[in-house]
Amino acid sequence: MTRIIALLAIFLSTAVLQAGNAAIEVEISAEDIPRFWAAYDRAKNASDRAAVFQTLFIDKVDARVRQFIRPSSVYASMTLHYPRFWESIRRNTERIAEKKEEMQRSFQRFAEIYPAFHPPKLHFSISACQTGGTVKDGIIFFGTEILTADATTDKEEFRKFPFYQVLGSTGGDVTVLVTHELVHSQQPLGDNARGTTLLEQTVTEGAAEFVTILLTGKITFRSAWEYGYANERRLLEEFRLQMEGKEYSNWLYNMAHTPRGRPADLGYFLGFRICQAYYRRQADKKKALAEIIECRDFHALLERSGYGGEGFAFGKE
Ligand SMILES: [Zn+2]
Repeated sequence: MTRIIALLAIFLSTAVLQAGNAAIEVEISAEDIPRFWAAYDRAKNASDRAAVFQTLFIDKVDARVRQFIRPSSVYASMTLHYPRFWESIRRNTERIAEKKEEMQRSFQRFAEIYPAFHPPKLHFSISACQTGGTVKDGIIFFGTEILTADATTDKEEFRKFPFYQVLGSTGGDVTVLVTHELVHSQQPLGDNARGTTLLEQTVTEGAAEFVTILLTGKITFRSAWEYGYANERRLLEEFRLQMEGKEYSNWLYNMAHTPRGRPADLGYFLGFRICQAYYRRQADKKKALAEIIECRDFHALLERSGYGGEGFAFGKE
């Protein structure tokens, strides 16, 4: 335990990066993690489990971050019902500090290709299986129990749920999800889905995927990519009919209700392809990348991308 605390202490620091000529600092914290496990241990023999999570964990969370934290009853119930999962993921969450250098390298690479990078605060916490990562008000909140899931994670208790498919899908490579969320932290609207059209939200997610793939070479939604390339022309025709609406359920965040015979999250693929097509057409790549990240006029981006237009080659290159 002493060693873990020492590692976390090192982690509660700032990472200093170079963006152009200016040094930038990324604020990182992981102090929630030992607090969560202290509550977890104490709750085992407690009559009021929720009260333990409230006092030892939630009440101690930084006020700026509390908006991301679920009620204590959710922590009490999730830990009670899925004990094999929690026991198996504990060590990975406690060792998140060891990923610091890997993450710093992603920030650095991002800052190099995108000089306007403004550093968010990275907060590694425990989400009670609600989110791997989400962005709001310049803070990226990570559910470290999802972020660090890998081949050693016991998922059996979730077999009946869609969560089973996503948990551990990055194989414990935290940089993929960290980079995806870093992109959202630079976008004018973040990853906030409220009030945006399907086109806007698709390009927002697609931009995050495009930059992540550019930097890491890794695809997170492999099944969507395979299906997407194989059915691209048809999917685009269908998407165009729906893109002005605000109904996302055929395309995004539909893991729990995937349309029959299709993988979830095909919107990530289409959004990626729109951004990729735009990027390829531009001579000034740095400028193009900034335009993709800072996009506000999504119709113009789609139009100028030439995606699906005359001479466009559908399917995998
Ligand atoms: Zn996203």
